[in-house]
Amino acid sequence: MATLRRIAFLLERGRQETYKVKAFRAAAASLLPLGDDEIAARVAAGTLTDLPGIGASTAKVVAQVVAGEVPDRLASLEEEYGGSLVSGGDGLRAALRGDLHSHSDWSDGGSPIEEMAFTAIELGHDYLVLTDHSPRLTVARGLSVERLQRQLAVVDAINEHLVSAGADGDGFTVLKGIEVDILDDGSLDQTEEMLGRLDVRVASVHSKLKMEPDEMTKRMVAAIENPFTNVLGHCTGRLITGNRGTRPGSRFDARKVFEAAAEHGVAIEINSRPERRDPPTELLEQARDIGCLFSIDSDAHAPGQLDFQVYGCERAEAAGIEAERIVNTWPRQRLLEWARR
Ligand SMILES: [Zn+2]
Ligand SMILES: [Zn+2]
Repeated sequence: MATLRRIAFLLERGRQETYKVKAFRAAAASLLPLGDDEIAARVAAGTLTDLPGIGASTAKVVAQVVAGEVPDRLASLEEEYGGSLVSGGDGLRAALRGDLHSHSDWSDGGSPIEEMAFTAIELGHDYLVLTDHSPRLTVARGLSVERLQRQLAVVDAINEHLVSAGADGDGFTVLKGIEVDILDDGSLDQTEEMLGRLDVRVASVHSKLKMEPDEMTKRMVAAIENPFTNVLGHCTGRLITGNRGTRPGSRFDARKVFEAAAEHGVAIEINSRPERRDPPTELLEQARDIGCLFSIDSDAHAPGQLDFQVYGCERAEAAGIEAERIVNTWPRQRLLEWARR
């Protein structure tokens, strides 16, 4: 049910509460196995709401679709949340071929991998790197070695389905990744064997953000020097708005960190989440001047949030960062070669 998915997408894109979104995603999942005839018959008989996950408001949307009308709910959401999220950044957004940072319901995201993949295809991406969390981040249900192994098999299966369904065009692919925690000593929170099986690795600090600046610098530089690291995720960890509250960014010697990143070809992430906007503008410009590579990532935890990338594009454009230095404007093969370091 494309309409129900579109409504969920718009609600997420408009940063609405998860519970509102869930009703539409659940309804879409409930209707997916039914044929159009059965859905129409149930609308006629008034038995749509007997199905699990279909309530009065979702049933109304379905009835309007069956009647060939544009559902009122869809029309009002398109009006409210369907327009540009931000002025600027469109040129850069058009140049992006994929997204290097996204979460599924395997860790703290809200949707299955395939739902994230479908939405990435609809947004025009050639690839989506799935980067669920690493084991130590237990609050986010970080993946153990065993769960990551299982996830990689699921990703293979999804990619095979996409190919056989012809949905891949020139080969949309879910790439295997991780958002791996940078531990206190700068080591990465996953085995080398598993890190070696992945396509792209985003390394981020999620703990002890208030560490002394000297220690934090060493920690981040050590992570950058690790040959598995491709992207330094949300480098300050600051939160500037939103329902998780706010917090200042961690303190470190940004020059040292960015010089190490430039030397080792590690991309500095421009994290597009509205509550992060990380790195702050001053640091973004410093990394630009030092010659770093960048990635513009959504850090999406739901399909509609995949569209947040344009926020990062707007900031990169304002900072005068050219597309060539943004690794997710590169074709997939070039990206993969770079990520192998
Ligand atoms: Zn993170
Ligand atoms: Zn993340």
